[in-house]
Amino acid sequence: MTEQLLIGGRRVDGPGASAVIEPATGDPMAEVAEAGPEEAREAVRVAYEAFESGPWPRMTATDRGRVLLRAGALVRERLEDLATLEARNGGKPIGAARGEIGLVATVLEYWGGAANKIFGETIPVQDPGIDVTLREPVGVCALITPWNFPAVIATWKIAPALACGNTVVVKPASATPLSTLALGEILVEAGVPPEAVSVLSGPGSSLGTALVADPRVSKVSFTGSTEVGSGIMARCAEDITRVSLELGGKSASVIFDDADLDRCVERSVFAVFDNTGQDCCARSRILVQRPIYDELTERMAKRTEELRVGQPLDESTEIGPLISAKQRQTSLDYLELGIEEGARLVTGGDIPEDANGGFFLRPAVLADVDNSWRVAQEEIFGPVACVIPFDDENEAIRIANDSPYGLSGSVWTSDLGRAIRVSKGMRTGVISVNSSHSVHPEAPFGGYKQSGMGREMGMHAVNLYTEVKNIYFSSE
Ligand code: NAP
Ligand code: MG
Repeated sequence: MTEQLLIGGRRVDGPGASAVIEPATGDPMAEVAEAGPEEAREAVRVAYEAFESGPWPRMTATDRGRVLLRAGALVRERLEDLATLEARNGGKPIGAARGEIGLVATVLEYWGGAANKIFGETIPVQDPGIDVTLREPVGVCALITPWNFPAVIATWKIAPALACGNTVVVKPASATPLSTLALGEILVEAGVPPEAVSVLSGPGSSLGTALVADPRVSKVSFTGSTEVGSGIMARCAEDITRVSLELGGKSASVIFDDADLDRCVERSVFAVFDNTGQDCCARSRILVQRPIYDELTERMAKRTEELRVGQPLDESTEIGPLISAKQRQTSLDYLELGIEEGARLVTGGDIPEDANGGFFLRPAVLADVDNSWRVAQEEIFGPVACVIPFDDENEAIRIANDSPYGLSGSVWTSDLGRAIRVSKGMRTGVISVNSSHSVHPEAPFGGYKQSGMGREMGMHAVNLYTEVKNIYFSSE
């Protein structure tokens, strides 16, 4: 059976198809049609006409909101099926996949409620009359997403884009197109005009490039690697296409000797190893104040050893496989490099005996890492934690900021003043204090430095999907 593309409400074949691999087995789980440049042009044409003359941008914001609320309800009704699909395709523990699909519904509900609360200002200009601003949709939005949180990240983009009255063409990652195709169908079923939402699977190199380069696309929103994001931004510069980017990270958990260590150890282990470390927000640098350095490293290692690595659909699994053999090899290569650079492997880093064809790897803790080493500077995007000692607050902030990235981070301390000083000192878009929680559907999310530009989620996302128009009414 081949999953087809979704263009303007029709399921159609592409010029090619490829197998989608189930990471826990290494076997194909579906054939998915691949779109090429021609399908990209067709999907953009449909979306462009839908924007220029179709009902979606012209219906009331309240009606658009109702449609998104219906989509949220449909996702909740089908949560178990969608979670199973996401768990199998992404190699995610089923419990985590349920949480992600629940978040998809929550984000649709948020934007369902927000749609009619997006408005402009009244400005007291010096000229006689009234000056107002309107928030207008940008146009056709090309939304390009990665494989680590496929449905969640697609929804972060689709829901605000649609709420603001845009039309969208979504390109999921080749490794994980299934839940996004299902989401596209749900949106149409909920009442989004079929022309306003298309989903094209296919290779980033050809399909993604064609979408970004199409002059009828007014806005590109991309989540993925810094390298690809940089190329997309350069291409967008040619015709001033609006672009927002959510890119890589190498975030720090900064742990002071006055922290609640029980809570901190538990959360810090999941903060780096959740989703098998394939998380842009992963706190993969664990900065520990010297008086508790040995104790914390030991406790991290012990808790890491207890993590249940296993099959995604087994309810007790905490850590699934990586997405691919290639991604696992990257982690293995970095482990070797880290040890060469002088790190001490405290635990993990081996392939479990029962891995069979699945891309499993035991989470690894590297201790005594120097922040200048490549293992501490480069994003690994796998289950590898680097533990780094520090002496005082200033050194902690300096090390945390010594990174090309600036996405997230945590501060662990029972001293409120210190929590405030360190949070303010860290150059990242998202910080959690005594927590490793990065993502709140109601709050802005995005990166400093090479972690990207723009803020998704919460009402900040309106800036990404609207233009501001100023209108002056003269009373003369
Ligand atoms: P990636 O290689 O950058 O791919 C992301 C998406 O872009 C995929 O859909 C990919 O398609 C597509 N793509 C690839 N080359 C393209 C091109 N030249 N033009 C247009 N689109 C192109 O990243 P990934 O390997 O999927 O994900 C891992 C990376 O994403 C990590 O570095 C991670 O930090 C980052 N990430 C960041 C966030 C965040 O919120 N900041 C979230 C998740 C992931 P194909 O799948 O067909 O290659
Ligand atoms: Mg890639």
